[in-house]
Amino acid sequence: MFKILQKSLSVGLATADYPRIAPHLAEQFRGCPQFDFAAWSDARPAADACPTGAIAVHDRDGARQVTVDYGRCIFCGECEQASADGAVRMSRQFELAAIDRRDLVLTAEYTLHPDGSHAALRSATGGPSDEEPGKRIAAAIQNLLGHSLAIRQVDAGSCNGCEQEIVALNNPVHDIERFGIHFVASPRHADMLLVTGPVTRNMELALRKTLAATPAPKVVVAVGACGISGGIFGTNYASLGGVDAVIPVDVYIPGCPPRPEALLHGILLALGQVRQHMGVYPRG
Ligand code: SF4
Repeated sequence: MFKILQKSLSVGLATADYPRIAPHLAEQFRGCPQFDFAAWSDARPAADACPTGAIAVHDRDGARQVTVDYGRCIFCGECEQASADGAVRMSRQFELAAIDRRDLVLTAEYTLHPDGSHAALRSATGGPSDEEPGKRIAAAIQNLLGHSLAIRQVDAGSCNGCEQEIVALNNPVHDIERFGIHFVASPRHADMLLVTGPVTRNMELALRKTLAATPAPKVVVAVGACGISGGIFGTNYASLGGVDAVIPVDVYIPGCPPRPEALLHGILLALGQVRQHMGVYPRG
């Protein structure tokens, strides 16, 4: 017992101070891809290489539209490898949670060369900001202290990659309870459903019933590329795709899987929404 106490005292405080301080990211950490649309001469190789269809190219009337959907992206890096012009770079950005699904989609319009490559960039919209991690949600944290949030996690068919990161939220490093946020065993005690995985057809009814059992006001957060869009599984004989194909979603957290800080960022974003909609939000 004495040895354990001695060890604990010698280790000191292990809990990270995210979001006040940017987290320590391992050298090999890979965040989302970032796109220099003006320098991207041809998006087709990247679109062909992308395993989830996150990059799409549509040509019409002498113009090319390129879309990148972070809700489908698994941060694999294939698009960077396929883009010889260096316009696609894997970044260390992970704070991607969005309230509106459309905010996860970047769109660029080009005029088209006869040889099929792009010409001038006409417009580009969307994308993650380069703002220092933690700054955006510092204000939310201030409002959060002293309040309590109960989360029911629902695995609607995931590979358990997201679950591993969610479990990490409770370890001494991330210690989500320091914010007054805790996980509960029943949706009847929950304010928030944290849903992972493409929704399997076998879990559809269970997910609907879980939402119905959660008291209003309630928030639904879709976690990971699978929770947002079906991810690598998409829609098939066993999968209905993303969570919002079955129940309404309030916040989307991209990643495959999202790291704990990305989950925390999305949960705090959702809390902002509770305040925003409190009183007018009760739903089915
Ligand atoms: S990093 Fe994302 S956008 Fe790029 S190829 Fe992989 S899944 Fe597609």
